[in-house]
Amino acid sequence: MRQLVRDIADFPTPGVVFKDITPLLSHPQAFAGVVDGLVDGFRAQAVDQVVGIEARGFILAGPVAYRLEAGFVPVRKAGKLPSAVEGEAYALEYGTDLLEIHADALRPGTRVLIVDDVLATGGTAAATARLVERLGAEVVGLAFVLELGFLAGRARLPGRQVVSLVTYDEAGVGVR
Ligand code: AMP
Repeated sequence: MRQLVRDIADFPTPGVVFKDITPLLSHPQAFAGVVDGLVDGFRAQAVDQVVGIEARGFILAGPVAYRLEAGFVPVRKAGKLPSAVEGEAYALEYGTDLLEIHADALRPGTRVLIVDDVLATGGTAAATARLVERLGAEVVGLAFVLELGFLAGRARLPGRQVVSLVTYDEAGVGVR
């Protein structure tokens, strides 16, 4: 998996090393392995809905939901969902942004797995967990393909079950 993740320096802004997972997604066996890896820790957890975070989270959450025989619910950037929404602000490097979920997407007591491609600072995932809980649903866990351990995103998800398939301990291009 590490060999199929491409480091792109200074994207989308100078100083950021972007983890490009498109080579991983286009490799049939690796893609299947990623989906199986995300599903593995949650097979016995009676997940009702898989929440995917826009946009790369959608690519993964769909097949994960299928495998878990669960539904799929999108969390999107502000203004994209057509029906009534709940919103949650989260911190960016400069300022804040807004994530939204359809207000009727989850019922109280629904057991939810949150899926995204990368756990970085954890701000996006933490805001998504707050959105899910605002609707009265329960966060069973969060699953990521990559974790940038040096950004300590897990610390923003205390007490939650967090699974990642590959962890990077250092910033920098080509770091394994
Ligand atoms: P954060 O809120 O800092 O945990 O950022 C997580 C979100 O930003 C995820 O949806 C990722 O897709 C994206 N992201 C953050 N950092 C990177 C990175 N270095 N490479 C690729 N995607 C990233």
